[in-house]
Amino acid sequence: MDKKIFLNEKDMPRAWYNIQADLETPLPPPLNPETGEPVTPDMLEAIFPMNLIEQEVSTERFISIPDEVMERLLMWRPTPLCRATGLEKFLGTPAHIYFKNEGVSPPGSHKPNTAVAQAYYNKEAGIKRLTTETGAGQWGSALAFACNQFGIELKIYMVRVSFNQKPYRRVMMETWGGKCVPSPSPDTKAGRSFLEGNPEHPGSLGMAISEAIEDAVTSENTKYSLGSVLNHVLLHQSVIGLEAQRQFELAGEYPDVVIGCAGGGSNFAGTAFPFIRDKIHGKEIRVIATEPTSCPTLTRGRYVYDFGDTAGMTPLLPMYSIGHSFVPAPIHAGGLRYHGMAPLVSKVFADGLIEARAYNQIETFSAGVIFARTEGFIPAPETNHAIACAIDEAKRAKEEGREKVILMNFSGHGIIDLPSYDAFMSGKLQDYTMPDSEITELLRSLEKYPKPR
Ligand SMILES: *Cc1c(COP(=O)(O)O)cnc(C)c1O
Repeated sequence: MDKKIFLNEKDMPRAWYNIQADLETPLPPPLNPETGEPVTPDMLEAIFPMNLIEQEVSTERFISIPDEVMERLLMWRPTPLCRATGLEKFLGTPAHIYFKNEGVSPPGSHKPNTAVAQAYYNKEAGIKRLTTETGAGQWGSALAFACNQFGIELKIYMVRVSFNQKPYRRVMMETWGGKCVPSPSPDTKAGRSFLEGNPEHPGSLGMAISEAIEDAVTSENTKYSLGSVLNHVLLHQSVIGLEAQRQFELAGEYPDVVIGCAGGGSNFAGTAFPFIRDKIHGKEIRVIATEPTSCPTLTRGRYVYDFGDTAGMTPLLPMYSIGHSFVPAPIHAGGLRYHGMAPLVSKVFADGLIEARAYNQIETFSAGVIFARTEGFIPAPETNHAIACAIDEAKRAKEEGREKVILMNFSGHGIIDLPSYDAFMSGKLQDYTMPDSEITELLRSLEKYPKPR
């Protein structure tokens, strides 16, 4: 048995997998909030280049990876599939726990898998400048790295509370040549209106998205880039699951359970969708998305049409949501704070192909510390949600005496997130479960829109 399963560079997948080709019923389209009619591709052209819009709506099963993107992916891919033998021993479980280590990329997470693709397609379309938002700073740093590779200018609106708490992510963005400002900012109309209510507004991902979109549509030669949620982002992340499938072949195993943490849903989808394809075609496999109890999109949200941002500038997306005006509780340190779930992840959840589980932040950090002490790597706080679930599944395998095979995506390392570990270890973190009344209230404004079918 090998501790790590490597693929040769020549065995790296040459095409992305698009789950839209295998869905039993098509994904409901995004809607124009004014008319209630489906959004046509040309309406998205104000914010995205046409080549990415084509991927967004494509139902081709495989889409080939351009050579220039491949060249960048090969800087850290294929990533190793590791057997968590230390963790297995600690738990005394008969389960085989595998983790796919996406923390080995230059910015330290899965996010550059799509960042390099998006920067490339924008460059191909003649775009000179991109705007984006970032929460904890993982996406901003990934896109800064990617834009630098392709000679594109980048402005990042970073949620203010993270901007203040996580200076090192900003330094990474600046090292790769990106410009980063705290959001809400005085640089946009949306930002100024949020600041009017509260000059020290902590910000939210939805607000930062509003700012970045406004900047893109009002600036020349500028488009907007999103690090999760959209179909083309999930497509680019499929390299994770495709590689893992080849690595399991080499190991002579196949997972019984696939686990990923889900914020907007991209690393989960990238890991799980190639396996869900097998499930659609008859394989017996369980797939679990994990999320925080303080932002319980899948476990307690509803399947609705909702905006992707707080100001309501995006089309309506068919997704499980707790409402676009959601502002996360300030005590929450674990990431995964987006109010909605990717339409494709929402669809496979509605279709009963996946399960969802919510974890409190104290149990996720406890799991992260166990992982760091048994496997060495200090996980990103987001990743800890997947680890908590993998540990649960491994314990259950022990009770059942089953040699279950578990795959978990290690979406990123936590070396830049040490302040949240510090808060955890010094007892400053509290659990927070969103009350039902709050979710009902947040969803009330959506009642006037149709329900996705
Ligand atoms: C951004 C991020 C996530 C959550 O985003 P998804 O789109 O849901 O994958 C999870 N883990 C890490 C390390 C991240 O940086």
